[in-house]
Amino acid sequence: MRLVFASNNAHKLQEVREILPAACEVLSLSDIGFADDIDETGETLEANSLLKAQAVWDYLVGRQMQDKIDGVFSDDTGLEIRALGGQPGVRTARWSGEPVDHARNRQKALAELRGKEDRKARFRTVVTLIRDGKAEQVEGIVEGEIATEEWGGNGFGYDPLFIPKGYTKTFAQLSADIKNSISHRARAIQALCKIL
Ligand code: IMP
Repeated sequence: MRLVFASNNAHKLQEVREILPAACEVLSLSDIGFADDIDETGETLEANSLLKAQAVWDYLVGRQMQDKIDGVFSDDTGLEIRALGGQPGVRTARWSGEPVDHARNRQKALAELRGKEDRKARFRTVVTLIRDGKAEQVEGIVEGEIATEEWGGNGFGYDPLFIPKGYTKTFAQLSADIKNSISHRARAIQALCKIL
């Protein structure tokens, strides 16, 4: 099976390739010659996830390439911090402003939670699959909490701050194998596999 992953994020691409079974060939946007930036103008993870998959599907249809693949899928992810009413949510990537700066975002998370007892948070990923022009969505959630300082060098984004429930280490301290078996993305991709 050949799928196109509608993301320019190299970390996400690597993770989905590791999570999906070897029988799934995952093409990147550069593999199909897609070089546009997709504006994430939606108000929800669902809307942005659909926007990304739709833009890539339309590109393939415009070049009559859609029959060469079995589908397009996208990933839109948000960090939802309970004490902040679910923020940053859909604004996770640009929480501390433009351009996207992961280190500055992590500093903002630490600053917003300073002195707060409740550090519960979750990552939520919405995956959209488009096959034959029809979109379907699945989600994956991992519960956890925000550490009081940054730990670890693996992963990306907020990984040095996120301690998944049942663990005492952040995603950035855990191995890729562990992250890819329990993460929001792993759970969303497992749900994707069920509908494929
Ligand atoms: P988006 O889905 O590309 O909009 O991603 C939003 C932001 O969420 C990214 O810029 C990262 O900061 C963060 N993010 C997404 N997935 C992960 C993850 O697996 N670990 C840590 N941060 C993540």
